Amino acid sequence: MFNLVIFGAPGSGKGTQSERLINEYGLHHISTGEVLRDHIARDTELGRIADSYISKGQLIPDDLMIRVLASVLDENPEKTSRGVIFDGFPRTIPQAEALKKMLEERGTQLDAVVGLEVPEEELVQRMIKRGHDTGRADDNLDTIKSRLDVYHKQTQPLRDHYIKEGAYHAIDGSGDTERIFADIKTALKK
Ligand code: AMP
Repeated sequence: MFNLVIFGAPGSGKGTQSERLINEYGLHHISTGEVLRDHIARDTELGRIADSYISKGQLIPDDLMIRVLASVLDENPEKTSRGVIFDGFPRTIPQAEALKKMLEERGTQLDAVVGLEVPEEELVQRMIKRGHDTGRADDNLDTIKSRLDVYHKQTQPLRDHYIKEGAYHAIDGSGDTERIFADIKTALKK
């Protein structure tokens, strides 16, 4: 069993690289952004709450987000038993502490954090392109700016947290997706 956090700013390629990791290692993928977008599409109560934050580029409050993740983890015990790629979670220090506890309570642990590091200009270009290609509502310039600001203030401190824990593998996340994936595999083999 291997549990992995794929970490990085919005637009850093977490979803793209997660898909490759699923194919290569057969891990179960949990993207909290996708979970929330699915609730918004189904117009659930959680979806309505989530939309009020996502449309402003803000984070969903920790207590709610942690409860959502715990219920997703427990929904599919047979799928999560081989290991999970956590994509977009944790995004704050309290979420990282909650994840550690949640995994311990389920008899497992976090094995690695893969950090995709991409220059800011490339992040913005990628998200604008994704907005055009997919129509994703929060990929517009105003919301992108808020999301990057939130990332620097609330999420980036986690990088130091995981470096201190010795779990963080920095990956140059700019440019060619094949090369990025090869670098991730090399880092994980260590
Ligand atoms: P993502 O698809 O990971 O870029 O997430 C899209 C949006 O969903 C974010 O901008 C947040 O508003 C919300 N979101 C996703 N994951 C989290 C999380 N772990 N904590 C708080 N908000 C989240």
